[in-house]
Amino acid sequence: MRAGEKIACPRCGERSVVKEKKIFDDDFALKEVKYYCALCGAEVQEKTSDHQKNTAAEQASKRLSELLGGETVAKVRLKPEADDGHFCLHCKNYVKHPFASRCALSMREIEATDSCTEFETP
Ligand SMILES: [Zn+2]
Repeated sequence: MRAGEKIACPRCGERSVVKEKKIFDDDFALKEVKYYCALCGAEVQEKTSDHQKNTAAEQASKRLSELLGGETVAKVRLKPEADDGHFCLHCKNYVKHPFASRCALSMREIEATDSCTEFETP
């Protein structure tokens, strides 16, 4: 929990924000941080740990997926694969260079994600 976080206050029942109060000991060392409802001033307890938040996010994602009538979609992988197409990266004539990669056929400067009709499987 942190200051400014939106909460549903358990006491006044309003959608409120968290007010933070730091409590210091006699040596001015931070002893405790307390959180209060900005509207009614009720102390708000930290309820959800990070783990619980993750679970809540998963549940929200599940509910959304149910709402959309679909199944949970696996994360999209964006790593190029050998059969992704005729990217210059996967071509036999791709000459990799830290500053300017070139095509061994045309000697043109190319990008790994370029493609052309001269593609050759290595
Ligand atoms: Zn309140």
